[in-house]
Amino acid sequence: MNYSYVSHLYCPKCSQTYDSDQVHNLCQCGSPLLVSYDLHTLKKDWKRDDVSTREASLWRYHELLPVKDRSSVITLGEGMTPLLTMHKSGIDMGIPQLMMKDEGIVPTGSFKARGAAVGVSKAKELGITELGMPTNGNAGAAWSLYAARAGISSTIVMPVDAPKITRNECAISGAHLFLVNGLISDAGKMVGQAVQERGMYDVSTLKEPYRIEGKKTMGLELAEQLQWQVPDVILYPTGGGVGLIGIYKALRELQELGWIDSEKMPRLVAVQSEGCAPIYEAWKNGQTSSVFWPNSETIAFGINVPKALGDFLVLDALYETDGCSVTVSDDTLLEEQQRIAEMEGAFVCPEGAAAFAAARQLRKQDWIQEDDQVVVLNTGAGIKYPDTVDVHVPTLEPGETLPTV
Ligand SMILES: *Cc1c(COP(=O)(O)O)cnc(C)c1O
Ligand SMILES: [Zn+2]
Repeated sequence: MNYSYVSHLYCPKCSQTYDSDQVHNLCQCGSPLLVSYDLHTLKKDWKRDDVSTREASLWRYHELLPVKDRSSVITLGEGMTPLLTMHKSGIDMGIPQLMMKDEGIVPTGSFKARGAAVGVSKAKELGITELGMPTNGNAGAAWSLYAARAGISSTIVMPVDAPKITRNECAISGAHLFLVNGLISDAGKMVGQAVQERGMYDVSTLKEPYRIEGKKTMGLELAEQLQWQVPDVILYPTGGGVGLIGIYKALRELQELGWIDSEKMPRLVAVQSEGCAPIYEAWKNGQTSSVFWPNSETIAFGINVPKALGDFLVLDALYETDGCSVTVSDDTLLEEQQRIAEMEGAFVCPEGAAAFAAARQLRKQDWIQEDDQVVVLNTGAGIKYPDTVDVHVPTLEPGETLPTV
């Protein structure tokens, strides 16, 4: 029994393979690389019931993760997040079997912790001492904190407009943090140059292969939590699309292991913001890659990605599962965020709220049926975004009588 059954890296575009014991970023053709496992042997060595008694973190699936040596694991206890029934909001939408996988409770307050935990652990195993990344906020926060725990130094560049809390998370971790008067694409160019000149490891979204593996665990957990069944629909707020690619990859691997039905895939939904919808646009036109979305803008900053490196993988997952893409306006997602808090007591992030709003919309269009089992990914904690809630509260003088409501 090995700790990991990783076998190699491969390119989903040109099929070139690479050694997973060496440091690699993109394929020579420019595509992101994916991780391959020896599923044939694993199928013999590993049974799904073996997992049920393991620790409640994403490392319970270590055979399907790329870290070879247990001692390389850098963890803050991430993963195995709750799958909650959303009874009231489900009835309200006409989807009685609505559920939420709540990533708001993971370390660093967003599901970026999953990618960072696995990515940083593998980087440590490969002997990396310095990493660099551009970020819209949450990824930088997660990677700099996990890097700190690993003793790896990090250089993070984010737009001045990125949420202040993520800036603080990077700063307090001791990262070399820089703000840029511009967009994440500007930050990306600066990091790219530093990587060339100083040889630090580029951990930009999908430029290293292991972040997907961390995010994949959302799909593994979901299947386990549903007693190795898959739901009818999964809605995912999509920026770079790493989580959606990961969930799709996880379910395919579980099918190959024979742990879930090889006939049934959930219909995957890529939820985007009206102010930044390149995947939606490409899906609507039946294309296999997206076009850069100029002047993108949305309060759901985690899904403000004008051109994703893995767009072709996201689109492929949508087509392969009879899924779709939808857009939601900022106003609509804010209304939904409040409704979810009032009805369910869950303070979801704007990106998660967008996915709930999309479920409501798709039910209205009958794309989601009343008896569908539907899972929404809430990718982060609402409390990371204090400024998105518009609050008007009466302020009283001491001794004043409370007004009746
Ligand atoms: C990064 C992020 C997303 C988008 O994730 P991708 O996997 O890159 O599409 C969604 N929600 C939140 C809160 C995020 O931080
Ligand atoms: Zn290639």
